Amino acid sequence: MSRLVMKFGGTSVADIERIRNVARHVKREWDAGHDVAVVVSAMAGTTNKLVAWCREASVLHDAREYDVVVSSGEQVTSGLLAIVLQEMGVTARSWQGWQIPIYSDGSHAAAHILGVNGEEIIKRFKERREVAVISGFQGIHKETGRVTTFGRGGSDTSAVAVAAGIGAERCDIYTDVDGVYTTDPNVVEKAKRLEKVAFEEMLEMASLGAKVLQVRSVEYAMQNKVRVMVRSSFDDPVKPKTDKNGQPVGTLICDEEEILENQVVTGIAFSKDEAQISIRRLADKPGIAAALFGPLADANINVDMIVQNISADGFTDITFTVPTADYDRAKAAIEKAKAAIGFKAMEGANDVVKVSIIGVGMRTHAGVAASAFKALAAKGINIRAISTSEIKISILIDAAYTELAVRTLHSLYGLDR
Ligand code: ASP
Ligand code: MG
Repeated sequence: MSRLVMKFGGTSVADIERIRNVARHVKREWDAGHDVAVVVSAMAGTTNKLVAWCREASVLHDAREYDVVVSSGEQVTSGLLAIVLQEMGVTARSWQGWQIPIYSDGSHAAAHILGVNGEEIIKRFKERREVAVISGFQGIHKETGRVTTFGRGGSDTSAVAVAAGIGAERCDIYTDVDGVYTTDPNVVEKAKRLEKVAFEEMLEMASLGAKVLQVRSVEYAMQNKVRVMVRSSFDDPVKPKTDKNGQPVGTLICDEEEILENQVVTGIAFSKDEAQISIRRLADKPGIAAALFGPLADANINVDMIVQNISADGFTDITFTVPTADYDRAKAAIEKAKAAIGFKAMEGANDVVKVSIIGVGMRTHAGVAASAFKALAAKGINIRAISTSEIKISILIDAAYTELAVRTLHSLYGLDR
């Protein structure tokens, strides 16, 4: 008997029939004797509609009121699922974020969860085996008592936080795919479902555009050591598929230590949300990087990859990347500070993509980068910029070569097998 959190996204609760299907998944675990807390998203399309209404009401709307509006989608699904569960004979009660409470800070529309008090939920598990049906995405600001939301996709983070709050053995995220893949299966047919992924690897993959989980949920899981499983809500609710070890089919995101056979490279991610800016002939002297990146920080623009050339004659070039959406703003901010920075020319490219090789095994294996560069060169792919961390190598290339590069690297590291 264990404690489980089950989270269902918007497509899984898109209509009453889908909600009934979710209830069958819940009933299965409940019948097996587990204590269950369910976290639900709004029905597919609902949040988009609510967001659009806020914009239509006023382009510059109050974020506190935005939260009141958009959090309502999840309230509807939690009530509906509780009704359906009760009808199936499962003891169930709905909970809004403020009722539990799920405390957050006050950054409305993108609030951070501070913690979840699981006491009452646990008490009800013990006293009446009551399933807690919790609205995802929403919480309450600890100081003001106002409703907050956790950013788009925030129900994932709600689920992980609830799992931490009730000390669940696992947090199952039911979604429209059956796990996390070595790369995007739409690009590489031979992409394989990963059985296990380390928190740190998943963090890299999630922030690099493998859109399965909200990045914050992975951070929260890593900090609180919550084991998360990504699995399919389209699986048979009564008798879900199992693997050769009798485990449910999906991808477990867990501590590195729980992963026995470590491959050097776990996955290849890519992100089109990247634009390149190159600054030509800056003076090579102390303070120049500060002068260049200061205005970007002031404009709240995240800089990602940075490459500075070796100085030849007292001048240097710096290349860096920013999110595509900030490309024009970034160029404008630099142009404005041109006199203070002092440079000859600014160039840029928007049609670039960042391909990343990810794996905790890189910590202990040399030569991963060298083999990637060689393989890309052999395909005639030019590298614009490189950045590395302990468990990741990112390479910026022309967007036209995305598929070729991802395929090449995927097979290079044996992920096709
Ligand atoms: N309903 C919210 C959204 O669409 C939260 C979520 O589904 O995770 O962003
Ligand atoms: Mg989602």
